[in-house]
Amino acid sequence: LGGKLTAALQKMQSVTVISEEVLDKMLKDIAAALLEADVNVRVVGQLRKAIKTRAALEEEVAGANRRKLIQRAVVDELVNIVDPGVTPHEVKKGKPNVIMFVGLQGAGKTTTIAKFANYYQRKGFKCCMVCADTFRAGAYDQLKQNATKLRCPFYGSYTEADPVAIAAEGVAQFRKEKYEVIIVDTSGRHRQEAALFEEMQEIRVAIEPDNVVFVLDATQGQAVHEQATSFHEAIDIGSVVVTKLDGHAKGGGALSAVAATGAPILFLGSGEHFDDFEPFVARSFVSRLLGMGDMSTLVKQIKDTIGDDKNDEMMEKFSKGEFTLRDMYEQFENVMKLGPLSKVMAMIPGIPQMGGEGDEGGNRLKRFMYMMDSMTDDELDGRVDLNRAPSRVDRVARGSGTHPMEVQMLLRCHKQFEGVVTKMGKSGLMKGGDEQMV
Ligand code: GDP
Ligand code: MG
Repeated sequence: LGGKLTAALQKMQSVTVISEEVLDKMLKDIAAALLEADVNVRVVGQLRKAIKTRAALEEEVAGANRRKLIQRAVVDELVNIVDPGVTPHEVKKGKPNVIMFVGLQGAGKTTTIAKFANYYQRKGFKCCMVCADTFRAGAYDQLKQNATKLRCPFYGSYTEADPVAIAAEGVAQFRKEKYEVIIVDTSGRHRQEAALFEEMQEIRVAIEPDNVVFVLDATQGQAVHEQATSFHEAIDIGSVVVTKLDGHAKGGGALSAVAATGAPILFLGSGEHFDDFEPFVARSFVSRLLGMGDMSTLVKQIKDTIGDDKNDEMMEKFSKGEFTLRDMYEQFENVMKLGPLSKVMAMIPGIPQMGGEGDEGGNRLKRFMYMMDSMTDDELDGRVDLNRAPSRVDRVARGSGTHPMEVQMLLRCHKQFEGVVTKMGKSGLMKGGDEQMV
């Protein structure tokens, strides 16, 4: 998706006058890319209209500014879709927060519950889990296993078949014991069906949750729109968690789900481990969708990994627009420390477009680092411009066992990276805000 949307926006970059014709063509390209990414047809239609309206309002602005305004409108309208402007329920200290998870079987509820508990445990909340899924064999064992790993108290039964009774008893007990985050797992059965919705409603009445979280599998394509709509109609959804964004899920379904429920997205799940979980930030999500690379998440992860001192120094430098090959080397080193490369790679502008995905991308990063290992200090610190020194490029390639073309690719990647860093530095984004980068 990213590639196509970006291409549509870039096409506009190359023309000097943004006529209605150019705008229409661009909107058509964007709509096609969104549809292909599983965004619901009606949502795409609304988006197109909203952008057109804004472009018309700003018609008197000419040339480069108009182009910027339209690009901004595209991003803003996408952000508007994934951020319905509703403040999601916030878990509060010192009181029981009952959170009920719903969604179809296989959506990732039980996995998400473990991630959710882990997330709040780390923030110092007393968490616990209740298994009200009596439909699927092994559901209780699965929850128990996760809870044990997390040292998190749990409640459930092998013999009691009534999910409403279990939910009510478990929640009542944990409320009494003054737990702060009481998470209730429910059954998803196989399909959206009356029996499932009835069970959900009964549990809801019995436990009076503070938040009902709808778990949505991003790999479900266009089907998620209808799914979200019927869950929302059956049980007023408070917020959404989108799972399985680590695979080849296009993410467009998330936009449709929010459009259908009006409920804000709380977290994104991107793997089977407890840590594959991040709070949702609308602008980051959209910029990732647009293929611009999500620098604000990356910057935050780097901050978490290397601590603040070194980071502040680096950010200070970046904000002045300085970004040498050595800086990029250090960034890559940090990326290496961050764990599963495939995920982090996708957040670096320039890398996803180079065709490397998953481990392939990781190998590319390693090869880049070998090349930089073969550079002199002058080259790394930008005192010599390698782009104007083909013989040096050849030497670096020989020294690292790579091809000069690969070295040139590294230099292009650095240019791209430098451009983003400079742009972000100027916008103050490096200082930790989550302003947009377009
Ligand atoms: P439930 O039926 O809704 O409780 O779904 P489960 O939590 O049992 O998850 C169903 C399957 O999806 C399991 O194999 C999980 O490991 C997997 N799963 C859940 N979340 C994610 C995710 O974010 N990424 C990936 N790749 N797999 C996930
Ligand atoms: Mg389950």
